[in-house]
Amino acid sequence: MIHYDIYLIWAKDADGKILRYYGHTENFIVRKGRHVAKYNEWIRHGKSDKVGDTHATRAVFVMEHDWQMIKVDEIEIKDKTELWKVRKLEGKYQMENECVNAHVAGRTHVEASRIYVQNNREKCNAACARYRKEHDAERKAKAAEKVECDVCGATVSRAALNRHKKRAVCKPPA
Ligand SMILES: [Zn+2]
Repeated sequence: MIHYDIYLIWAKDADGKILRYYGHTENFIVRKGRHVAKYNEWIRHGKSDKVGDTHATRAVFVMEHDWQMIKVDEIEIKDKTELWKVRKLEGKYQMENECVNAHVAGRTHVEASRIYVQNNREKCNAACARYRKEHDAERKAKAAEKVECDVCGATVSRAALNRHKKRAVCKPPA
């Protein structure tokens, strides 16, 4: 299991408005140190736009005034393939609160691929149809392949897995 903290950096800007930045980290202390280091680097470079990536720049922007970094949530995942869960949780905070984050975590990737598909739809359709035709037997064999349900441990065919998970028999072992 990997533990992640969802954190919030907040500060008041010159007009007294609260600015919020959300992030996630495996190590709160180390991450805080990096935000401070990025901030100091940015100051050293005369607050140049060119120092650091967009996220870091926006993050350090709020630190110009009194700021605090606090933990707002935590989540454990099995391994890095489940990082989307962390981004989704972070994204929830970003969507529910006004914040300075440039992109909503957990959404950018999906939107980017949606735009890609839109732009490449015709090309994709033709290529996909060709691929399907060529790999039909392979696809059928794969669908029939028995897999273990990650929720209840039952053995079901890959094609039936989603349907199986909606059934009452599929529940985590007590
Ligand atoms: Zn199951």
